[in-house]
Amino acid sequence: MKSDGKYQEILIRERLIERGRRLFEAPRNFIEFTGKREADELLNDLEQYPHAFVIACVMDRQVPAERAWLIPYKLSLKLGDFHFSTLRLLSEREICNLMLNPEPLHRFPEEMARNLYRAVRVIEKEYGSDASKIWKGRPSSAEVVYRFLQFRGVGPKIATMAVNILARDFKIPFSDYYSIDISADVHVRRVFHRLGLVSEKPTVEGVIYRARSLYPEFPGLLDLPCWEIGRNWCKPRGPACDGCYMKDLCPFGKGEQRQ
Ligand code: SF4
Repeated sequence: MKSDGKYQEILIRERLIERGRRLFEAPRNFIEFTGKREADELLNDLEQYPHAFVIACVMDRQVPAERAWLIPYKLSLKLGDFHFSTLRLLSEREICNLMLNPEPLHRFPEEMARNLYRAVRVIEKEYGSDASKIWKGRPSSAEVVYRFLQFRGVGPKIATMAVNILARDFKIPFSDYYSIDISADVHVRRVFHRLGLVSEKPTVEGVIYRARSLYPEFPGLLDLPCWEIGRNWCKPRGPACDGCYMKDLCPFGKGEQRQ
């Protein structure tokens, strides 16, 4: 017979998966990446500008995400458009000038200019100038994570985040979802801890592996429900447990655990 704690954990897992599935199966909506409508329109236009999404992922390092994801739009203003045919004609020096002047677009503009130049070369040579070939044709999630890792400056965190956004928000079909991890940011870690899924002071790696053990078929599915709970109810101080749909199962919400 299962212990009460184990049984409760199973119920928590089931409820998070159910909510995650519902969000995953919802129709594709406009995605807010930056809060600036024109910049988000460019990033949402995966059909015409798939390279804008890839380049934003490449820029997403060591600056707030909103600033990184604005870079394709800011470049498009300087260039007059953001067609790949325009990007592929730029030299590394020209990209560096665009990234540096009149104001730096990134905290590390020269390094990011190098990464951007190399990204354009990869899209040109490996994908025939069409970045959507990175994810077209129902490849496995591992294959697409691997393809993102081939871009200079992209590590496992950004690569799995990119594939998670493609699957969850853009509704791109993959043959499996095993390699899409949870994005264990501070809110997700807090919700995992309060739900009793990980111990106190959970590490990023701890939460990633816990999500893999809870739902190996698609660990990233747990991302959005936890993020949603964190944003709406599970605030760092004074969580609003009365409104939270996990309250009847959550050890913290029931007062069994206090930080
Ligand atoms: S019940 Fe309270 S502590 Fe538990 S996840 Fe919801 S808001 Fe957080």
